[in-house]
Amino acid sequence: MASHGMRGSGLATPCYVVDSGLIEANLKVLRGVMERTGAEILLAQKAFSMYTLYPFIGQYLSGATASGLYEARLCAEEMREPLKASGRKIESHIFSPGYREEDFQQILEYCDHIVFNSWRQVEKFGARARAAGKSIGLRINPECSTQEGRAIYDPCAPGSRLGVTIERFVQGMGSSTDPAEGADCEGDRKCGNRGNLLQMLDGLHFHTLCEQDSDALEKTLDAVESRFGAYLPAMKWINFGGGHHITRAGYDIPRLERCIRRMQEKYGLKVYLEPGEAVALNAGFLVSSVLEVQGNTVILDTSAACHMPDVLEMPYRPPLQGSGQPGEKPFTYRLGGPTCLAGDMIGEYSFDEPLKEGDRLVFEDMAIYSMVKNNTFNGMPLPDIVLRETDGRYRIVRRFGYEDFKMRL
Ligand SMILES: *Cc1c(COP(=O)(O)O)cnc(C)c1O
Repeated sequence: MASHGMRGSGLATPCYVVDSGLIEANLKVLRGVMERTGAEILLAQKAFSMYTLYPFIGQYLSGATASGLYEARLCAEEMREPLKASGRKIESHIFSPGYREEDFQQILEYCDHIVFNSWRQVEKFGARARAAGKSIGLRINPECSTQEGRAIYDPCAPGSRLGVTIERFVQGMGSSTDPAEGADCEGDRKCGNRGNLLQMLDGLHFHTLCEQDSDALEKTLDAVESRFGAYLPAMKWINFGGGHHITRAGYDIPRLERCIRRMQEKYGLKVYLEPGEAVALNAGFLVSSVLEVQGNTVILDTSAACHMPDVLEMPYRPPLQGSGQPGEKPFTYRLGGPTCLAGDMIGEYSFDEPLKEGDRLVFEDMAIYSMVKNNTFNGMPLPDIVLRETDGRYRIVRRFGYEDFKMRL
């Protein structure tokens, strides 16, 4: 068992351990979808940016997508460059709700697909992207909420700033309000007509799911078709965004593949998916040690607030190896972190044996949205990043110290 290895491995705690074999198992599932359907799958770096594994990931997937300049550069440096020699072409995509003028030139160097969040952004940057030979997309809001009670993760919630509703799409697609653009247009018959900006687009992008199955995707595609169907035949591609829990046991892959084929066959579109979670789902651990047992409360050397912020933000109770629900096993404890925050609690768990100082606890599913989101609040040290190689050996990829805390302040 990996857990035994990790508990007795002599690794310094806290540390994130990412298991190459488990990553590879996920990549094989995603690769299967690509091979059976011809869809392209990209890593959404914001969920998992452990770039030591980028050359490995790039052998299975089509590339990566970025939320901004730095992630785009990371993809270019750590996935595209290392794989160049092998002749493998890595696609680099980007979406941002708002691009900065000072970043845009570099973005053009790093990215192949640039997805905008509004017609105004298309108007502002589209011509430059087009001149640089980029594929241009617009994020749409199909106004189809498929998650209940989680507005923070729902880009279709009322008032969402993410994506263009059909109302705004129709209103804005032909109107250029930038006087400079107007001047460029003289002599071009198409300029100034409705459809002017629409003609800039190569594809449409939506991202509305979070940890969902393909039934939610199917429902979303119904909404996309009913609202934006008239514009799909003119596009080259459609991007289904992320939030597809493809590598979770029980996920309905055949339904996903029907969704992909539906867009391919009906509209002749190339289909992109850009999951983050699914690439590294259940492929990482956070190993921590018990610092003190105070009755039913246990202080660990890892913090929810600093090292697993989604536990508090989402919120959720992370799986913990060898534990049960409160009361399920004889010894129940509340596990908390060593920061000043009263709410820095990871959750309540039960165990077969009493916990004692120095015991090691292994939290599961800690590769995603963990090391990309952690912080040094309270001057907390950042956990080491460790790779468990396919031969079972542990390699310390990164060790952090005082300087990592100090240099950000
Ligand atoms: C967050 C995000 C993703 C990845 O989502 P997961 O839930 O990690 O699969 C993909 N695309 C966009 C635009 C995103 O914002």
